[in-house]
Amino acid sequence: MRIVVKVGTSTLAHNGGRLNIRRVELLCKVLSDLKNAGHEIILVSSGAIGMGVGKLGLHGRPEDMPGKQAAAAVGQCELMYTYDKLFGEYSHNVAQILLTADDIHDPRRSVHVHDTLERLLSWNALPIINENDAVATDEIGIQTTIGENDTLSAIVARLVKADLLILLSDIDGLYTADPRKDPNAVLIPVVERITPEVLALAGGTGSSLGSGGMATKLKAANIATQAGIDMVIANGENPEVLYDLFDGRQVGTRFAGKGCCV
Ligand code: GLU
Repeated sequence: MRIVVKVGTSTLAHNGGRLNIRRVELLCKVLSDLKNAGHEIILVSSGAIGMGVGKLGLHGRPEDMPGKQAAAAVGQCELMYTYDKLFGEYSHNVAQILLTADDIHDPRRSVHVHDTLERLLSWNALPIINENDAVATDEIGIQTTIGENDTLSAIVARLVKADLLILLSDIDGLYTADPRKDPNAVLIPVVERITPEVLALAGGTGSSLGSGGMATKLKAANIATQAGIDMVIANGENPEVLYDLFDGRQVGTRFAGKGCCV
């Protein structure tokens, strides 16, 4: 199978932005094992800004654009250094690809991104993608950001015609209500169609049921399922959950690729 796995900052780093070593080590081990089993993996990894904050010892995430971009420039190095080291232990070669919105929205440029990814996969390398946070900006008149990696990972999955998109998050999946506020909230195992009722579960733009931006996850699900790709939201707390998923066990929330669309 060709799989795009997206991992969020909350999975990769502790609250202060320093690397969650145990978790990242386990993630790299499991992904290496899945590659050894013959699956093609593309990793979409956040964490550049968070790890930059941690490495620089800043008190929090910078509010201003140059601050965010500079933190990302530092953190992206740390991120790739870590992946290179850990995947290298299992003899897998990593490849860094940093994208802006233009790279995927411009048809000619996206062809190059596609071709590079295909070549990397054919060479058995592991592409690791993030937004190019150090240069993408969202100022008036210039909009070169995608903004978040849930959407980016769905666009990548569509571009490479992936069989499955997995979003590893800090929540188990999509719930019937906010599980932090409502004890009766129940995890929804399968979403056959992304209806307005399902979208309403995200609680509106920019907010989320649990932590971690359910609205952008549903946006990603919409892109993936419209392209016929299944998407799963699962909790990245224990990366071994990926084994369960590949063994066909029920994990998190699965959005059926055939059941599009709003
Ligand atoms: N590209 C951002 C980073 O690496 C993360 C975006 C997101 O969290 O979706 O820090």
